[in-house]
Amino acid sequence: MKPVTLGRMRVRKLFEMESAPPFSMILQGVTDQDLARLATWNVDDTLGATPDQSAFTMSMHSYVLELDGLRILVDACNGDHKHRSIPDVDRVETPFLANLAALDLTTDDIDLVLCTHLHFDHVGWNTRLENGKWVPTFANARYLFSRSDFEHFGEQDLEDDHLRAFRDSVLPVYEAGRAELVEADIAVHREIGNGVWLEPAFGHSPGNFSVLARADGEQALFWGDVVHHPIQMVRPELTMIFDGDPEAARDVRLRTLGRAADEEMVCFPAHFRDPSAGRVLRDGDVYRYRFLE
Ligand SMILES: [Zn+2]
Repeated sequence: MKPVTLGRMRVRKLFEMESAPPFSMILQGVTDQDLARLATWNVDDTLGATPDQSAFTMSMHSYVLELDGLRILVDACNGDHKHRSIPDVDRVETPFLANLAALDLTTDDIDLVLCTHLHFDHVGWNTRLENGKWVPTFANARYLFSRSDFEHFGEQDLEDDHLRAFRDSVLPVYEAGRAELVEADIAVHREIGNGVWLEPAFGHSPGNFSVLARADGEQALFWGDVVHHPIQMVRPELTMIFDGDPEAARDVRLRTLGRAADEEMVCFPAHFRDPSAGRVLRDGDVYRYRFLE
C-alpha cells in the first residue's frame, strides 16, 4: 500500500506476515458462484474456482496514522516469539520492526497504540521479549484497550491463544502502567467527527471497536475484524469462525459495510491483502470493494 493522505492525515501500512488457512476452515457456505463473482473485482492468486481449491489468505499488518504530530499505531499483529497453538503464528520471527524502520520510525516514535480488540493477532507487538520478560514494545506510547475485552479475556479460564495473548501481550502493558481501559465510544484525539475516535462494533469480541478519523479531508475507517476477507462483501451474512457472537458480528458487518458505502469512507481493513486500503461499493444487495491502487 502506498501512503494515503486524507486532509491533514497520513496513513501507512506496516506489514508483518500472511497466513493462509484452508478456506473451508474459516467460512462455511461459500459457493463456486460466490468465488466467481469475487474474481470479477478481486485478484488473489490463492483463490481457486471452488472453496476446496482456495485459501483464506489474511494479511497481518498494522496501520500508522499520523495527524497533528501524533503517531498512532492501529492494531499490533502477532508479535515475535509468542507461543501459540496455531502453527502459522507460533513463535514466529517476522520483519515487523525492520518494516517499521523502513517507514523511518522507531518504536520510541509511537505515541498511541489502539487495539481494535484483544485477539492474539491484534495485540502481539504490544510487547517484546527483553531478558526473558515481556515488556512494552513502544516505550513512550499510551495503549488503549477496550474495557469489555480486557475484563472478558481476563476472566477467561479456557487455555487458548487469546488467553495466552492476554498474558503475554496485554497484562504486561497494564502492569507497566501504560494501558488505559476505555469505553468503545470515545474521542481519542480532538473530538468525535473531527479527529480520531472509537465506535462500538461489538460481536467479533465483546468490546470490539472501529477506529474512525477525519481531519480536513475524507473520513478514514479502520474496521479491524468487522470484515476479514473480500469474500465477505459477496456473502456478508455468513458466519465467520472467529466471531465470538456470530449474530451481533453479522449485524455489525452489514451496518458497517452499508455506512462505509453510503458515506464513501476510505477503509483500512486489518486483514485484506495488499494494497488493502479501498472503498466499499454497493453491488445489488451485497457489496464489492475498490482497492485504492
Ligand atoms: Zn484479526
